[in-house]
Order: sequence, then C-alpha cells, then structure tokens
Amino acid sequence: MSTTAMNNDLSTRFQTTLLGLDPRKPDYVVQLVDRLLEQAGAAGSSDVHLQPGSEGLEVRWRIDGVLRAVTILPAIIAPNIVARLKVMAGLLTYRSDVPQEGRIAGATATSLERRVSTFPTLHGERVVIRLFADTGRFQQVTELGLPPAVDTPLRAALQETTGAVLIVGPAGSGKTTTLYACLREVMAQSRGERSVVSLEDPIEAALPGVAQSQVNSATGFDLARGLKSLMRQDPEVIAIGEVRDPESAGTAFEAALTGQLVISTFHAGSAAEAIGRLLDMGLEPYVLRSGLRAVLHQRLLRRLCQCAQPLNDPATWLGLPVKQAHGPTGCLQCLGTGYSGRMLLTEWLEPKSAGVVRVILDRADAHSLELAAIEAGMITRWSRAVQAVEAGWTSPLEVRRVLGLGNPLP
Ligand SMILES: [Zn+2]
Repeated sequence: MSTTAMNNDLSTRFQTTLLGLDPRKPDYVVQLVDRLLEQAGAAGSSDVHLQPGSEGLEVRWRIDGVLRAVTILPAIIAPNIVARLKVMAGLLTYRSDVPQEGRIAGATATSLERRVSTFPTLHGERVVIRLFADTGRFQQVTELGLPPAVDTPLRAALQETTGAVLIVGPAGSGKTTTLYACLREVMAQSRGERSVVSLEDPIEAALPGVAQSQVNSATGFDLARGLKSLMRQDPEVIAIGEVRDPESAGTAFEAALTGQLVISTFHAGSAAEAIGRLLDMGLEPYVLRSGLRAVLHQRLLRRLCQCAQPLNDPATWLGLPVKQAHGPTGCLQCLGTGYSGRMLLTEWLEPKSAGVVRVILDRADAHSLELAAIEAGMITRWSRAVQAVEAGWTSPLEVRRVLGLGNPLP
C-alpha cells in the first residue's frame, strides 16, 4: 500500500465525521473544530498541525511520533478556524502578526487542558495544538517495556528517600509518561505513607494521592519559587515536570541532598549528555556526585508491523553494526506505514563506579563520561538499537530517524 493510499484512508475517515455538518449554519466552524480535536484524539495523535498554504489549511496529525497528512480545509474558512481556536485558547483574535501561546481548558474538571501555539507565516497563521494523548496508556513502570537491567534498578531507586532520579531524552521521547508511571510506582510501594507532591507545566494526568500543582510563570508561581515554597510543605517525594533553568536545577538538587527523593524530566540526548548539561548549568560536580541517584535516558522508536520483510542488502543497514535487519512493508493492519506501536530504547547511568565519579569530578566532556559509563557496565542507546534491529523489532531507518547519523560505536 502506498503512502498516498494510507493518508487517503485517514482523510476519508475524517471527512466521514464531517458529513453531518452544514457549512451554511452559523456554528459550522465551532462544530468543525470540535470534531477535528475529538477525531485527532481518538486516532491517538499527540499534536494537531494546521498549516496555511496556497491551497488551503493543511491538517496533519502526529501519530506515533510521525506527522501524517489528514486533509486540506478550504482557504476561505482557514481564518475562521484559526480564530475559533484562538478564542478557545484565550488568545487575542485581533493580533495575527505575532506568535501567541495559550491553553484550552478541559471540558470537565477532570479532563485536561490542551496547549495552543500560533505563529504568523506567509499564508496566514499556523496553529499547533498539543493533545497529550499518551498519558492514559503505559500507566505502570512494568508496562513501559524496560529491559530488566533498567526496570529493577529504577524501581529500587524509587524506594530511596533521597537523591535525584532524572528521566532524560529529547522532546517527544515519552519522558512524562515514564515520570507518571514512576509516581504511580512510588504511591503503590508506599501505600499512601509518603508525602508526594508535584510541580508541573502543565499537569498532563491526574494522579490519585499526589498533590499536583501547575506552575504559572505569568503569576510569578514559577518552578524555582514553587520548589522553595514546597520545601516547607513537608514533602518526601517531589516530582518536577521538567527542570529547564539553572535556578530550578540548583533548588531540585538541594532538595535531593536534604532528605527528599526528587524525580524530574530533563532535556538531553543521552545519559552522559544530561550530566554534562547539568554541569554546564552551574551545578557543582560534588553536588552531582552526592545528589544524583540515577539517569534514565530514553528514546521512542516505532515497532515494525508483522508485515516487515528482511533487508538482505547490507547497504540498507545504514551503517549499523548488525548481522541482519528487517524493513517496513505496509499492510492493512498498519495502515500502510509498516509500523505498529512503539518501544523504548534506554540507558541507565548511576554515578557509582569510581571511574564515572572521577570523570564527573574532573568536569570531563560527555564523551569521556559515556566511555567511563560503558566501562562501568552501561548499555548505550546504540547497543540497544543494534539489539532491537537484529531482533527484528525495528528497522535501521527508524533507528537513524530517531538517533540520527551518529557513530553507533563509542
Ligand atoms: Zn503491516
């Protein structure tokens, strides 16, 4: 099945949901936008892209990490659709010449908000809506599909009373899903006997028993200030949506050194790079050595569908040191994509071995740190990728799409 056929299928499904709508009715655009968001969510999309072009407003959904074309809406109603989304997100409808960011609140108290971002372009405003589709799945740590060498130490780390556990990866690598699973694990292990709080931006799922707060920098309730105030709330476990700046990194590690277990996500391309970035942010090496319990680095790769075929030409292994590989084909089940579901590639780094500690104290670069971690037994993202390709779980192309063109050998 060709890519066009696949996209037509997604398009047909969406068009079918619009059949009952009458363009002459005054609430046409309101209904259209509601169904667009509803259908995107039902299809498991994480983001909705609305891109204006010469032909109209192109609608694309991000599913399993990849953008897929859905339809092109007529250019004549594009401004009304954008205006409707801006009203929903509380943005200034009369400003279309500046980027804006807002939120659409959930319809009920328990449903979650969606983030809306607009950006002026040549053909009009481009809108991206983030839906947080994945947080309902993979609820428990055991459901994440982590290898035992990562699952066991992670769950042990979550029983500790101090130190920082960082979940790191680039955007869209499932860090928040893992963070939520970790918090559920903490709640289950402690049977409600630990005081668990969170600072998030935004809250993506409600967690029973956790005192969740959403930071709002517009009101001065930012991460660093929230963390300082939280310390007076007698917390035992503090979850942080994402540490982004030196000040909150410093406060988070202070908490980790003074009797709290801190679990946070952090943006970095590898476990070693995460430590390097924290040092660059001004954290002292001795603070990292004593405060950092572990780094879990993760990437999300699409899994090959059952219709995958062997790749016999080594040129198609794209420079990966594998002995065999499979590639995507496409069938009805996978809607022609060749992939079905996703899997995690992980790295687990605990700064325990003398070699790793020495490299941290020396403020050495990420590459030296990675070599020391490998020496201490860390299995890198590349080794996991090679295993996954040889086992036929994913393709060389997918590995290169997610991990890039780097050298798989240390
Ligand atoms: Zn298939």
